[in-house]
Amino acid sequence: MTASDQGLLHRDPNFSYPVLVKGEGIYFYDEAGNRYIDGTAGAGNVTLGHGRLPIVEAMADQGSQLAYCFSTFFTNRPALDYARRLTELAPGDLNYVYFVSGGSEAVETAIKLARFYHLQRGKAQKYQVIGRWRGYHGATLGALAATGMPGLRASFEPYLPSFPHIASCYPYRCPFAGCQDRCNLTCARQLEETIRQVGADNIAAFIAEPVVMAGIAAGTPPPDYYPLIRQICDQYDILFIADEIITGFGRTGKLFAIEHWDVVPDIITFGKGASSGYSPLGGVLLTDAMQQGLSQQGQALPHVFTYVNNPVAMRAGLAVLDLMDAENTLEHATQVGAYLQEKAQVLMDHPAVGQVRGKGLTLGLELVQDRQTRKPFPPEWGVSKRIPQLALERGLALSGTSGGADWVEGDDIRFYPPLIITRAQIDEALAIIDECLGLVERDLRQQGWVPGSLAE
Ligand code: PLP
Repeated sequence: MTASDQGLLHRDPNFSYPVLVKGEGIYFYDEAGNRYIDGTAGAGNVTLGHGRLPIVEAMADQGSQLAYCFSTFFTNRPALDYARRLTELAPGDLNYVYFVSGGSEAVETAIKLARFYHLQRGKAQKYQVIGRWRGYHGATLGALAATGMPGLRASFEPYLPSFPHIASCYPYRCPFAGCQDRCNLTCARQLEETIRQVGADNIAAFIAEPVVMAGIAAGTPPPDYYPLIRQICDQYDILFIADEIITGFGRTGKLFAIEHWDVVPDIITFGKGASSGYSPLGGVLLTDAMQQGLSQQGQALPHVFTYVNNPVAMRAGLAVLDLMDAENTLEHATQVGAYLQEKAQVLMDHPAVGQVRGKGLTLGLELVQDRQTRKPFPPEWGVSKRIPQLALERGLALSGTSGGADWVEGDDIRFYPPLIITRAQIDEALAIIDECLGLVERDLRQQGWVPGSLAE
């Protein structure tokens, strides 16, 4: 960006944003000709990589035939076809879908439909939604009310309805005594405690990301977590919304990550990978029971966005499913995901790495001063900023966040590349992460850091 590039309001006024001009496969290029590995798949979007002509051609073809269709009075063939394809692939009886333009709209839709569902059943009081601390569900006020990340919420308090939150499943930094690393599901049982506290008659739904990426670096609950959540939700007539906006469409090797737990939610929200980032597209999948509940009074849904069922977005979604089919993306993501998880363990050779974890093509590294006590680095050392900065200079875009330990302290690094990545490209990215960790550790030692014991 140059000094004369004014007018566009960027999120961080202190950051100099490289201007990107081209993408190809897992790489993108800036105006200066620098090449980067897209190590966050554009925040989880570009699952099938950059420059995929079949998706672009499908969109151009649709745009030249019918670019827009007002969903209140009309429907369109691509929307009907995409709905059929997606509901056939979705788990259990998630046989209905409502298409919107992105993740936050999908979460807004899910919350409103959950409330409307209970209203139609004569349970108007069931309007609250329980979220989880460290859960991220979007930027709009309703989705933000369900979000449990204080740094994103605080500036917009108070919310319209005040949503209760329970702890996320975060074994590495579990707040419950005796639960660290092993997870005895106290965090899941907190859902029942909170339901009893607030009153089941006041709660419409519980929302959670199967694998947390924004609030925890690749936070993955143990096998018993979601079955217990499902059981508690059923017991108290509460809908379970799985927010798959970042995990959906193959990120963990399944079409939807919740399938790893063999649990069928009442609602799945999706976005990002649905169009592989080529078109604004999101949606909610609903079970047969949800659809019946919503329509039982014969009332039209009092909910619509201008771009519902947008034909061009629908063709992008269909083209993504075609490519995933042709390229066996889920199998590929499973295999290279397992390779990534195995190879990345070598990063534990760095004393500043407290844990390497993840599922499929999500990778999270916890950075600590002392591996045994898990003491975080002082936030002013900016460890989670320095590593992505060095990586960017070496051609790898990564994300790093702080606050993982207590909202102020705690650093982590996330790597979640396009699903088309190869083993050799994973090696290339891990080598850069390895080098950057080494460089930062060298600097930290010069700053006076003495690493804790390497023994487990
Ligand atoms: N939910 C989850 C789990 C997300 O990761 C995101 C975005 O990162 C959202 C919701 C919001 O989606 P969007 O930014 O497309 O509105």
